[in-house]
Amino acid sequence: MFKAFLIKYAEIGIKGKNRYIFENALRDQIKYALKEVGNFNVIKEQGRIFVECPESYDYDETVDAIKRVFGVASICPVVQIDDCEWDPLAKAVGDYVEQMYKDKSFTFKVEAKRADKRYPFTSPEICMKMGEYLLDRFPNMKVDVHNPEVKINVEIRTKGYVYSLIIPGPGGMPVGTNGKAMLLLSGGIDSPVAGYMVAKRGVSLEATYFHAPPYTSERAKQKVVDLARIVSRYSGPIKLHVINFTDIQLYIYEKCPHDELTIIMRRYMMKIAEQIANDNGALALVTGESIGQVASQTLQSLNATNSVCTMPVFRPVIGFDKQDIVDVAEKIDTYETSILPFEDCCTIFVAKHPVTKPSLKAIERSERNLEEQIEELVKVALDTKETILVD
Ligand code: ATP
Ligand code: MG
Repeated sequence: MFKAFLIKYAEIGIKGKNRYIFENALRDQIKYALKEVGNFNVIKEQGRIFVECPESYDYDETVDAIKRVFGVASICPVVQIDDCEWDPLAKAVGDYVEQMYKDKSFTFKVEAKRADKRYPFTSPEICMKMGEYLLDRFPNMKVDVHNPEVKINVEIRTKGYVYSLIIPGPGGMPVGTNGKAMLLLSGGIDSPVAGYMVAKRGVSLEATYFHAPPYTSERAKQKVVDLARIVSRYSGPIKLHVINFTDIQLYIYEKCPHDELTIIMRRYMMKIAEQIANDNGALALVTGESIGQVASQTLQSLNATNSVCTMPVFRPVIGFDKQDIVDVAEKIDTYETSILPFEDCCTIFVAKHPVTKPSLKAIERSERNLEEQIEELVKVALDTKETILVD
């Protein structure tokens, strides 16, 4: 019965002169999300975005796709009314109620908006007259202006619209309106969630994955590609950089104390990711770190890894318990993929008793053992990186 959706947005309403940038981005993101679903027309009109549907389309699939677009506060399936003269308008609103609600014994309230000020009735008049009309036509319905079970929204613009369903969207801001960040994406649970959370604030993503063949398998890499693909359903296309990290890891393993391996390795990950970010116009790094989760995420460890970067490092799940992160992962559908049992490179080279309170001085001292070859190894890793466009 619905040929269109009215899209409401919250936060982007307050952006003053920049508002159109946000609206255009939101329109474009909705178009992108619906590309695979069908041939929809997404239009911007008087502070509203409308999605006009093709003759036949899948309602659930369409709503699901729009639900993934950041910046959408709510999705209202609407019926358009071409003729807004009073009688046909009232009849169309009545027909809407007729079709939508089998059992017409609920309390309701009409809310009206008149964007077209030439319309002969004011908004309060429309509410009153429409209420009367509906009571007349459906005698078991009752008005309750304070706590109605159903709000029937009637809007008069160039056309008329009626809707009563309001499906919550994800909130946030349209991707692309807040620059780009580089996500350190592993095969775990946390980093895809971290990427999702930053994208939700309007940031587009690139990602870097550190691969250590043959210690990590092709399937472990494929898992990361799959995770990037799931995140890209929200964030839009992700350029995924795959760095071959094996030689660097082996070199660190050979030259440095084993209880410091993880920290030193992570410092090189951050350094390399920062370099790729700089080369690609990303303005921040994003990781899935959470305080105290593992030895490499104590405050001392976070300090030691952080100190190699000059770029801001965003850690959106820093204060989350594991279960909080799992909850988001389940909601965004990355969880099932994340728990597939393919080793990531950190699990191969972990020491039995890693330092939990590394001193930066000690770490830097150990890294001096790497001076001879590390620069060359990093250069080779960067030169041989593989880039996959995940869409
Ligand atoms: P996750 O669940 O995201 O894998 P984790 O709990 O396993 O996190 P660590 O292995 O300590 O934690 O990694 C911390 C963060 O470092 C990850 O969230 C991710 O951002 C980054 N990271 C770790 N390993 C890799 C890798 N192989 N490639 C890219 N980034 C990585
Ligand atoms: Mg991990």
